Order: sequence, then structure tokens, then C-alpha cells
Amino acid sequence: MSENAPQEAPQDPEESAAERKMQFLFSLRSRGVTDARTLTAMEKIDRGPFVRGHFATHAYDDTPLPISCGQTISQPSVVGLMTQALKVQPRDKVLEVGTGSGYQAAILSQLARRVYTMDRHPRLASEAAEIFRALDLTNITVLTGDGSFGLPDQAPFDRILVTAAAEDPPGPLLAQLKIGGIMVVPVGQSDTVQSLIRVTKTENGFDYDELTPVRFVPLLGGVDRDE
Ligand code: SAM
Repeated sequence: MSENAPQEAPQDPEESAAERKMQFLFSLRSRGVTDARTLTAMEKIDRGPFVRGHFATHAYDDTPLPISCGQTISQPSVVGLMTQALKVQPRDKVLEVGTGSGYQAAILSQLARRVYTMDRHPRLASEAAEIFRALDLTNITVLTGDGSFGLPDQAPFDRILVTAAAEDPPGPLLAQLKIGGIMVVPVGQSDTVQSLIRVTKTENGFDYDELTPVRFVPLLGGVDRDE
């Protein structure tokens, strides 16, 4: 190589990681994720470990990605919008239905006292538990089960987040919310655009807010051991 040949600038891995994080946070803000606690949690929890195989290079893109068992890790901006809509408080006990990769539960773990997360695929539950152990996220409990029935042993919950689409907010989950508690759930047919709704339990019943259109895999019944 001649001395005058153009040289590629050596890449500083720390600088590119910082740039990637800035881009990631910028795209969250530009899609309406503005709550400071949510942004701090999403800055702290790296999406990389939750995305496996050859999709790992897309971990910081604002897009859903395939995970095991034919499921998906949600789009980061949707994770952010759902998290901020849930208005989690530091003393809260939270139930998440639909562990998937575990990414959403990891973010909730930064905001709440304790997080219970359930998936109907045992393999997803155990892969997520492995990541939580590696990241030392000790306030998350992962369970295998049909989350449409909630977790009666641990009820009532301050917050419930459902990350699969139901035709209506499941009755057992509404029953397991505290008075003043909040549930965020995508509602609608699984093959159409659904509405993300927020349900607040009051002394007299439930208040409903429609938040934004979303697209989620369906909330299915039973445990799937076929993997
Ligand atoms: N929250 C996940 C994350 O951070 O990666 C993404 C969830 S993925 C879009 C939906 C998940 O809901 C799938 O893993 C699916 O197995 C799970 N699921 C669907 N129906 C369920 C049910 N009745 N009980 C528990 N999990 C269910």
C-alpha cells in the first residue's frame, strides 16, 4: 500500500455503541415515547441480548423481529408507548402476559418493585429466565402458563400489561387489577390492525382510553409444549 493511499478511519467500538444508543433513543422520542423514566429504562436495558441469531444485527432498529417458537420481540417504540401508558410506580407489582423474548419485562423491572411475566411457550419462558439471570434482574419471576387467566396466587396487581392481542380485555385479568390499577392491552382481531387500550379500574367499574393502532400476535389459549 502506498503511503498516500486513503486510509479507513479506525472504528472506535465505544463511539459507535454510543452513536447507536443515541439513534435508538432519538427514534423512540420521534415516535412519541417522551416519558423520562421509560426512556431511562430503555437506555439502560440493551435490546441486543434479547435478539438471537442472524437478526442480532437489527437489534437496534425500530422494528419487530422473529424469536423462537414463531413469536416476535415487539418494536421498541411500541414497547416504549406501552410502558409509558402503564404509568408504573416504583412500589408496583406488575403482571406481564406474553414474555416472548423477555425484553419488555426487563424494562418493566427497572420501573416496578416486582414483575411477574408469563408465556404459554415453556421454551420462551426458560430462555428469558436465562437472560434475566445473566443480567442480574432479580425482581422478575417468569412462569409458563395461559396468561389469559392471570396469576390468581399473586393477585391483585397494580399494573397488567398484555403483549398479545385479545378480542376483549380478558375478564380474569380485569378481576385481578387493584382499584386504581391500570391494564394496557391490544384489542381486536389478530389479522387486522388492533387498538391499544388502557383500562383503569375504579370503585364503580372501568374507564377505557383508546391509545394507538398496533399489530400484535393473538392471545391464544393453553400451554404450547410443541416446540
Ligand atoms: N413482550 C414480548 C417481548 O418483549 O419480547 C413480546 C411478546 S410477543 C409479541 C407475544 C407473546 O405472547 C408470545 O411469546 C406468545 O407466546 C405469548 N402469548 C400468546 N398468548 C398467550 C397466553 N394466553 N398466555 C401467555 N402468553 C401468551
